[in-house]
Amino acid sequence: LPLPTKATHQRTREHNVRLVLRTLYDFGPTSRAEIARRTHLTRTTVSDVISDLAQDGMVEEIGRGVSSGGKAPILLRIVSGARLVIGLDLGEGTFTGALVNLRGEISHQVDLPVEGRDGAGSLEVVEDLVDRLRAEATGPLLGIGVGTPGIIDSGTGTIRWAVNLDWQDLELGRLLAERTGLPVYVANDSQAAALAEYAFGGVGPRIPNLAAIKVGRGVGAGIVLGGRLWQGDGFGAGEIGHVGVVDDGARCRCGRFGCLETVASAEAIVARARALAAEGPRSRRGRGARQQDGLALGDVRAAFAAGDPCATTAVLEGGRHLGAAIAMLAGVLDVHHVVLHGSVTAFGDRWLAAVRDEAARRSMGLVADAMHIDLVGIASNLTVLGASALLMTSELGLELAR
Ligand SMILES: [Zn+2]
Repeated sequence: LPLPTKATHQRTREHNVRLVLRTLYDFGPTSRAEIARRTHLTRTTVSDVISDLAQDGMVEEIGRGVSSGGKAPILLRIVSGARLVIGLDLGEGTFTGALVNLRGEISHQVDLPVEGRDGAGSLEVVEDLVDRLRAEATGPLLGIGVGTPGIIDSGTGTIRWAVNLDWQDLELGRLLAERTGLPVYVANDSQAAALAEYAFGGVGPRIPNLAAIKVGRGVGAGIVLGGRLWQGDGFGAGEIGHVGVVDDGARCRCGRFGCLETVASAEAIVARARALAAEGPRSRRGRGARQQDGLALGDVRAAFAAGDPCATTAVLEGGRHLGAAIAMLAGVLDVHHVVLHGSVTAFGDRWLAAVRDEAARRSMGLVADAMHIDLVGIASNLTVLGASALLMTSELGLELAR
């Protein structure tokens, strides 16, 4: 055996700190003895690590727990505001950034529109978001977690291709790290959201296998298997938005034709509603045409709620295309829990019913019976929370899986 060197001592210490933090994070208020039992570290080692962490303001004592015979043990917990993470969601027409504490609670949020900007302009908005949030931070920052659409190399923080943002081989991780001096973790937005749904989504025990599908400006799935985010061989797992689903379909922003995004995304539904209205009875056409040039998702939502037939057809068709894709995904993975999020979910129950109906219609009875397709419990910020959680897991070794 090699003699221990200074470097390996340092590594052992870091490892021990991570073990202790992870135990406190996963099991809540815990005594030193309980930490030693769960981590298999000696009580002396645990006490040393705890006193270092307390000095850093990361851990605090919160009084005595229940006695199991002798003196009641002092309980410890992570100080939720000891470190803050900047979490970013770059997945919609408005970029969202927030300060997130170690418990996944959001204290400050900033939204900036990017609609109509090119790749360089969108990058400026990201930098603006980060600068504004750094100025608002009331505690030390641990780093920046970014959820962005596209194929992301999370190892290097490089966005290999984000179709809707016109970003190719953009080294976003390096750029933000150089700007701020902070560690940065960049992940696909749908993948980040799936991790958040796994970690923070439910009230009961965590669901080990799930697919969280984002349906908004883009369409993408994040897949958690066995309590771990599945990123695939090339970080592209769940990128279903650019799988061709319609023969001779419309041209997609990726350059090909008939992708799922061309029929199920927010923009696709708006375009379809507009096209149907233009084909409609003469009486609707004249005055409507000019207004419909500016038709946005909110307008279609209002029309859908009012029972407008064009909006209804467009929305329910979009839902059915998504349902077909879910049938394929669930059929391949045998994942029973599918949750949906993103701006299109605002179409609500009738849209969801179309999704469910089509997914069931295209699945074997056994699979269909076991499948649950729902809207996410957390109304918003799923990508922000997931991106923050990924940064925390990478920086603190907080293992979200159990
Ligand atoms: Zn495409």
